[in-house]
Amino acid sequence: MADANIFPALIAHCKEYGYIFPSSEIYDGLSAVYDYGQNGSQLKKNIRDYWWKSMTQFNENIVGIDAAIFMHPITWKASGHVDSFSDPMIDNKDSNKRYRVDHLIEGFAEELRDKGGEGDKEKADEIISSMEKLIAADDFEGLKKLIEDNKIKCAISKTCNWTDIRQFNLMFSTEMGSVAEEANTIYLRPETAQGIFVNFLNVQKTGRMKIPFGIAQTGKAFRNEIVARQFIFRMREFEQMEMQFFVRPGTQMEWYNYWKAERLKWHESIGIPAEKLKFHDHVKLAHYADAAVDIEFEFPFGWKELEGIHSRTDYDLSRHQQFSKKKLQYFDNDLKEDGKPYGNYIPYVVETSVGLDRLVLAILSIAYQEEKWNKEDGTEDSRVVLKIPAKLAPVKLAILPLIKKDGLPEIAKQVMSDCKQSFQCFYEEKDAIGKRYRRMDAIGTPFCVTIDHQTKEDNMVTIRYRDTMAQERIALSDVRKIVSKKVEE
Ligand code: ATP
Repeated sequence: MADANIFPALIAHCKEYGYIFPSSEIYDGLSAVYDYGQNGSQLKKNIRDYWWKSMTQFNENIVGIDAAIFMHPITWKASGHVDSFSDPMIDNKDSNKRYRVDHLIEGFAEELRDKGGEGDKEKADEIISSMEKLIAADDFEGLKKLIEDNKIKCAISKTCNWTDIRQFNLMFSTEMGSVAEEANTIYLRPETAQGIFVNFLNVQKTGRMKIPFGIAQTGKAFRNEIVARQFIFRMREFEQMEMQFFVRPGTQMEWYNYWKAERLKWHESIGIPAEKLKFHDHVKLAHYADAAVDIEFEFPFGWKELEGIHSRTDYDLSRHQQFSKKKLQYFDNDLKEDGKPYGNYIPYVVETSVGLDRLVLAILSIAYQEEKWNKEDGTEDSRVVLKIPAKLAPVKLAILPLIKKDGLPEIAKQVMSDCKQSFQCFYEEKDAIGKRYRRMDAIGTPFCVTIDHQTKEDNMVTIRYRDTMAQERIALSDVRKIVSKKVEE
């Protein structure tokens, strides 16, 4: 079960321990925009690096690119974003608050379900299923009627006084060139995928790639989300990690199923428990897709999309071929059963697209734990700990001399200069050791080593494990090797 009460505590913790700050906070922040602090940016980088490695190093037929955020404006005409990258919205006339229609109805259904009265759950299911059918049919009048018939109210005005439903484009635009020149409207990319499609032939030719092959990319994307909420779950500026896999037409379902399974396994490989992940098939397919599924994660506020896997057919490459008038085809030399080559075709595409910020939130919401226990003397003790998997943790090892004198800092600094060549370390000599352990628990450091007076005699140090709080003595000379091994696990 998701624990909604944990969520405000997690947000406060992220701020207090240098993970995530509201953007430009000294000016009271900017809605749905966040900055990553010293620990958050390192966690994010570790997740990004692991994804990149999983795609481009573990797969011999996937390469990476880094395309620009700005793209020729026709790109977004061709991709369909100018005409149809929009969400149905409705405004409350009394509060002037704007809602995404699906969020408004889902929120109402969730409340109904939580009430738990007789028939409430069935009614909520019925509402969601009607909503999905109406959205699939683009039936805005029907959707408005569904809102009115169920007397769904605005959270602020508490009234049911709604405008008609309208579409709202989510792309941000800006101008390129000086004001004196003729300014050209360009868009901040709303997804990284198009940078891959327009480079398809560049990569295929220069890398002599043979189908099936993939192109991976990570980078910023921008969406003018109307209902931006739930911390870093839905932001206006966020980061995507996308991979487009180019396949022979007719084989797309095989690859779609392959990537569904692979991506689920990947999420488990970064420490997300299987019971917190599930597939959700799309009822309404986007205009470009012949199959689509979300991998959902159980966030503290419920099951929500973490990653999308889409079989995008040859839609994108065909559209770019049409708009650019440049051939975006592949010559397949392999032979069919009848002995003839497959020849020229526009490849089909299976896409995997995951939000990096949503992954950060998923990892943090699993990791965040408030623990209480009784000590031997009967008094209670407690801690807040981030049990982030060691391979993703921002700092791997804290190096702590027991006291600030007697040569202990010198030994500790020696360990520091040895270990920092291999992984992120943190050195601290201030405060009682217990207090320092708690601080390391709170930022999620999986290992601490303490250098004490005994170290000077036997060259042994105490290693303390974050998750169990167990401690053991290990050789000073083994610290780097032992921690490196544990981080790799
Ligand atoms: P949603 O239905 O939640 O708006 P989407 O279906 O529009 O998401 P896609 O276009 O499939 O999302 O984008 C791929 C991934 O990018 C999503 O699975 C999500 O992880 C991430 N993502 C999309 N929009 C945002 C956002 N506003 N903030 C953070 N991450 C996002």
